[in-house]
Amino acid sequence: MTNENVHPAKCKQCNKPTSSVLVCDYCHTLNPAAATVTDYFTLLGLPRRYDIDLQELHRKFVALSRHAHPDFHGGESPEVQGLSLQISAALNDAYRALSDPANRAAYLLELLGGKSSAEDKSVPDGFLNTMMMLQEAMADAKTGGDQDELGRTRTVLVTQRDGLLRRIAKLFEDYQEAVACQAVTTDILNEARKQLNAVSYVRKLLSQL
Ligand SMILES: [Zn+2]
Repeated sequence: MTNENVHPAKCKQCNKPTSSVLVCDYCHTLNPAAATVTDYFTLLGLPRRYDIDLQELHRKFVALSRHAHPDFHGGESPEVQGLSLQISAALNDAYRALSDPANRAAYLLELLGGKSSAEDKSVPDGFLNTMMMLQEAMADAKTGGDQDELGRTRTVLVTQRDGLLRRIAKLFEDYQEAVACQAVTTDILNEARKQLNAVSYVRKLLSQL
């Protein structure tokens, strides 16, 4: 799906140029075609890539949500009110998926045709050994009520997670550069899946601390 399919150059209502596929910036008329936008990046008017500007994401989310909000369209037809609810819910889902780095990576990975976590459960070499050691340390520290040790384990896990997310960011950067060569991009997406599986693992351990 391309932006052109759903992006009206001008608002049908007031004929002013619009910057969003969802609502007119000027008269707040909702675009009926918005209901067919299923890609969160397009929905929020952002480029389909990992390294999006998070401030811009937040700004667009807030602005579009305000314009699409049901309170804004209270006096309008049931169709428009339904559309308003639908767009507001889609914006919330999109923001949740894109504002968190791991969620964004997972979403983008599948959008680009990468494997899901159910299809490919692999993790980087040596990762499970490291995690096993950390889990043992965690269990001992919990049994002994050793708060210092638990704190240290948390620090190690956070460092692990951030390192994995940096590698994922680099992989998506490489993807942008290799986009013409499918053999390379497939390898990159497989590697990103592996790193992302590791992030999920680390996050699960962090949630147990
Ligand atoms: Zn308008």
